[in-house]
Amino acid sequence: MASKLVRRNLLFAPQKRTLKSSALRSSIPWLRKSTPSLNWGYNGSECDPEDWPNEYQCGNCQSPIDIDLSKVTYSSELTPLEYSYPDKFKYMVNDGKNIRIHWRGETALSGGPLKGTYELVQLHFHWGSAVGKGAEHLVNGESVEGEAHLVHWNPKYGSIREALNHQDGCAVVGVFLKEAKTDAESPLSPILKRFPTLSKFNEKYTFENDVFNVGDLIPKGSEFICYDGGLTTPPLTECVQWIVNLEPLVVSKEEMDVFRSLEGSFGHNFIDNFRPCQPVGNRVVSSSFEPEK
Ligand SMILES: [Zn+2]
Repeated sequence: MASKLVRRNLLFAPQKRTLKSSALRSSIPWLRKSTPSLNWGYNGSECDPEDWPNEYQCGNCQSPIDIDLSKVTYSSELTPLEYSYPDKFKYMVNDGKNIRIHWRGETALSGGPLKGTYELVQLHFHWGSAVGKGAEHLVNGESVEGEAHLVHWNPKYGSIREALNHQDGCAVVGVFLKEAKTDAESPLSPILKRFPTLSKFNEKYTFENDVFNVGDLIPKGSEFICYDGGLTTPPLTECVQWIVNLEPLVVSKEEMDVFRSLEGSFGHNFIDNFRPCQPVGNRVVSSSFEPEK
């Protein structure tokens, strides 16, 4: 405890002063044009998840959460997700904390809790160093090894920057990655094969003729839960309609190890890039299914 206090109060205090002023510009991957901030990170970084609330404004709608299946509220108004993700990508980049994949062309997501149609901005992942951790959302207190996030925005707001000011400004579809013994390649295989070209911080891969069907990442017919939440990375803005699929995508150990081999901002592997769960509070977690008794 003492060493933690020393670290926070003395070593990194100047860093924290500069962080706040540049927080918005430096923290939203799809807004920034320049080299990303190295300030915030995960365990062992200059500003780890327990420090984030001191640096960024947090309300009562933070993410991720632990999904208690006995406390969800069935909603007959939730319709199946409908999506169209044409096979048109721009690039993938190792930003030191994640791998992000960006799109060009028209995309569309509707259904679930969404009013209107959202457009895909990017896809990224969270993963752990070992079996039993890595996903951001938990289910009944349990974790799996990873979680893919398909980040969409609501074009009715005219710009992504404006969408961030509204609780329904973004929609993120979460898909769990569960490590299991399998010889089958997962739908992630086409991009995982390119990850060696992204193994170091700031490396980028520009798509050419790669075939990668993003819609295959979403388990067909999966039950899902929805709730009002926020970005799970700084600036933690509460602008997200979360849609978390309960059926995982099965991924082999070899495929998860490709994630675990990536190098981050500080030269070592970046793993355990997930935020701990936040209080559900008074929020309703709605479900496409009847809750467990
Ligand atoms: Zn994410």
